Amino acid sequence: MTVKNAIQLPSAGQSNRVGTTCKGGAIELYRHGSGRMPVLLIGGVHGDESEGFILAERFQNELRNGSVKLSADLSLFICPRLNPDGCAAIRRTNHRNVDLNRNLPTTDWSGEFQNVRYYPGVSAGSEIESEVTIALIENIKPHMIVSLHSYEHAMNNFNGPSEELARAMSARNGLPPKGDIGYPTPGSLGTYAGWERKIPTITLEILRDQDAETVWKTHHEALIAGFEFYLDG
Ligand SMILES: [Zn+2]
Repeated sequence: MTVKNAIQLPSAGQSNRVGTTCKGGAIELYRHGSGRMPVLLIGGVHGDESEGFILAERFQNELRNGSVKLSADLSLFICPRLNPDGCAAIRRTNHRNVDLNRNLPTTDWSGEFQNVRYYPGVSAGSEIESEVTIALIENIKPHMIVSLHSYEHAMNNFNGPSEELARAMSARNGLPPKGDIGYPTPGSLGTYAGWERKIPTITLEILRDQDAETVWKTHHEALIAGFEFYLDG
């Protein structure tokens, strides 16, 4: 089954609401630039990993006020809070208790789970937030994706054909590039976009509980290097 959800992509410098959760939460998409190469930054998939959505929002603000600059060849789309209800409640899952990074319709999706924190939902792609993720990928057609998370083991986790990309980011943020997070993640963005659709995908695991200023200093140059990585290739 092909899921085709048309969403209205914002024009440069604008935000559009691209989805509304079951609880009424707004999923917003911001666009910076109108260059030939679209890239996608996602934050707030897990609402208790605030390091990620705070970094995404700060990156968006610094682009808007001109203190961060990107190549004019890029169109950067930022969805800072894919899981707005989880972010507001500081919880991993969405309002329906689903782990959104286990709900995407991958070939290895499974309804089994060991821990309620990883509840994958009643069926693959059952959640509005997952439909939005799919729609973002189908409409934007990003050349690469970065999704911001946090974890006690910080890393540039790469999925799909993106080891060199991960290494370029590692040169800036000092985190190890790793192709394997250490446990299986069926229904994850890395599997859906990276391995199954061959879109270079980085799950940036920021060090958990790091303060926002340190997160910014550590990662903003790595993000820029990542977004611009494929421009020459
Ligand atoms: Zn996470």
